[in-house]
Amino acid sequence: MTAMSLPPHLGDGHDPLAGLDSLRQEVRAFVAEERKAGSITFGQQTWTTFDREFSRRCAERGYIAMTWPREHGGHERSAAERYVVCEELLAAGAPLGSHWIADRQSGPQILRHGTEAVRKSILPRIAAGECTFGIGMSEPDSGSDLSSIRTRAERVDGGYTLHGRKVWTTNAQHADYLIVLCRTEQKGENRYAGLSQFVVPLDDPKVSVRPLVNLAGVHELNEVLFDGNFVPAENLLGEGGDGWKLVTEELGFERSGPDRILSTMGVLTIMAQAAGRNPDRHDAAAIGRLLARVVSIRALSVAISGRLSAGLPVTGMATAMKDMGTTLEQEIPEVARRMLDIVPAATGAPFEAALATAILNAPCFSLRGGTREILKGIIARELGLR
Ligand SMILES: Cc1cc2nc3c(=O)[nH]c(=O)nc-3n(C[C@H](O)[C@H](O)[C@H](O)COP(=O)(O)OP(=O)(O)OC[C@H]3O[C@@H](n4cnc5c(N)ncnc54)[C@H](O)[C@@H]3O)c2cc1C
Repeated sequence: MTAMSLPPHLGDGHDPLAGLDSLRQEVRAFVAEERKAGSITFGQQTWTTFDREFSRRCAERGYIAMTWPREHGGHERSAAERYVVCEELLAAGAPLGSHWIADRQSGPQILRHGTEAVRKSILPRIAAGECTFGIGMSEPDSGSDLSSIRTRAERVDGGYTLHGRKVWTTNAQHADYLIVLCRTEQKGENRYAGLSQFVVPLDDPKVSVRPLVNLAGVHELNEVLFDGNFVPAENLLGEGGDGWKLVTEELGFERSGPDRILSTMGVLTIMAQAAGRNPDRHDAAAIGRLLARVVSIRALSVAISGRLSAGLPVTGMATAMKDMGTTLEQEIPEVARRMLDIVPAATGAPFEAALATAILNAPCFSLRGGTREILKGIIARELGLR
């Protein structure tokens, strides 16, 4: 992708990704090496694919914890540099699942709200590609409305014990920790009060992880049960009772990155290549329309990344971006299946496999990280319409 100008009302009028071409080329060379070695499969777009060795190699190149302070294992690079590295890896379909959640949201949460002890013990391990995190928000009866969660943390000597159940927990079977949203006080009149977030180690016999296999036959999702496991007080994020504010902040990181645009980029590339071989095809216009949307939504995402690193509020922008990005990600395979003369997964050829994966996974793009209806509600609230 080439650099672009940001709309002035979103950024400050200059292109934050300009001048980063050599970094982009460096990442592309890394991707080419990894493709040759077989660790990146053509067109398989998924940042949830778990490969710890790949994460270690990313870490060796300084591609994890890029913007964090050196004292915590980071590299003190800019948000724009991180954006370039992430979008190149995502567009290539690199298996980022071992570090993606930790780098995108759990690490930044710990950096901002963790105790010194937790920052010191965990952040350098994330930066080294040695530590996997999961998101412990959703529960069997609480997905969209997280204020109704029932997992509770009870105060005991030196910390808390956890009781409850989380569900749809991506990669929990590989994770070292979850950041878990719990009730620390009874639900009262203000349903957003009395919630807290904890960094919870999963290597505890009182924590069980059970698989949930998706419709593509892949085990990435899980149910996680807490049956009285002890969590030290130092693992509380922020002040007790701050959970709602923290979760809202965390979702800003979760909803606004290039991962919400590029899940089906491999399929779009296949379409562009097919049209390139036959430039008279009328499909070129449809591909052009999709690419124009990629470029404009990306401009919004880049602007949000700058705001996040400056500590500015992003809720409305991030929510709108996720809605537009995931709608686009879902439309790409739909356009492809109408345009390309191929049967997904018929012969096992890489482009067929890529299309089949995209078709099977696309429905979840507008569920994970918040559903379309809920996002629309947040946007309306941000605009003062409700
Ligand atoms: C692939 C995938 C990965 C995921 N990974 C994780 C993870 O790692 N960690 C985690 O915590 N969660 C994860 N989730 C869960 C995800 O965040 C929830 O599925 C999502 O927030 C919706 O919650 P729900 O499934 O309980 O649906 P519900 O909240 O029950 O919603 C069901 C339907 O009703 C609609 N609805 C609900 N309330 C309203 C309302 N007030 N107004 C209008 N419509 C409404 C919703 O839009 C939806 O269409 C993942 C989900 C998927 C699909």
